[in-house]
Amino acid sequence: MRKLGIAAVLLGMLCMVPSTGSAQVKVYWTTSGMFGPFNIQGLIPSIPKEKARDITIPISMWVIDHPKGLVVFDTGNNAAVSDGGCKSHWAAGNCDFLKPSQKRDDVIDMQLKKLGYSTDKVKAVITSHAHLDHIGNIKLFPKAVHVIQKKELYQAWWPEKFQREGGVFVMADFDGPARDFNYLELEGDYDLFGDGTVTVLSTPGHTLGHQSVKVKLGGGQTLVLSQDAIWMKENLDGYPAGLNYSVKDYNNSVNRLKMIRDLENAEIFFAHDQDQFAAKGGKWYR
Ligand SMILES: [Zn+2]
Repeated sequence: MRKLGIAAVLLGMLCMVPSTGSAQVKVYWTTSGMFGPFNIQGLIPSIPKEKARDITIPISMWVIDHPKGLVVFDTGNNAAVSDGGCKSHWAAGNCDFLKPSQKRDDVIDMQLKKLGYSTDKVKAVITSHAHLDHIGNIKLFPKAVHVIQKKELYQAWWPEKFQREGGVFVMADFDGPARDFNYLELEGDYDLFGDGTVTVLSTPGHTLGHQSVKVKLGGGQTLVLSQDAIWMKENLDGYPAGLNYSVKDYNNSVNRLKMIRDLENAEIFFAHDQDQFAAKGGKWYR
């Protein structure tokens, strides 16, 4: 009788262990310094004058802690852009327009350190796209698996002329040793750990091979990390972004993420939304 009782208690404890692999997945939202201030019409020309305002925006980066390994989603502006060094690494026009305020402490390696990790511990780096504020520090992760759409790699190396203008792809971010990294070249969506908790979503339009990430947290909430598929809330309010490889694909991707949000009761986190980051950035989601 007593043995049966103990068995029942043990069985009860087993039943309390969550059955999904998402139990321990948590996500931290941080930024590679800020851009701005500048007028929102500089990024979203479709916004009418009466709704225009100056914005100072985050450069979103995500740390995903999964039982099978640590993931970084986007690596921000190159470390050289820190502390006024912008013009040593970027075209002067981008420095003058974007006004990056990044300090060396804001760079992803230091952010990881603050959270108790090291760059060596990062198993996978997912790069949304190869623009200067998203792929900037992949060279800090030579041992990681680099997850990127195959088309985006091609575009990064040889962007069309209209994409290359202004210097938004910075070759120095991904040349040299980065050529020999291990790239998991995707052609569409991908279930990163095979358990449905971290899913790469193909969201082209902003660039040829842009991708977003969906995370199912241990607590049951689903986050859609759009990165530049949706810069900020205004893009959901009907004002399309001003920089697109394909407007048609961009609109399809915005609609795709909205439908996923509605079907899964998910929350979309934007790449560059000043208000959303002020309210929700710099913390863990579990
Ligand atoms: Zn961006």
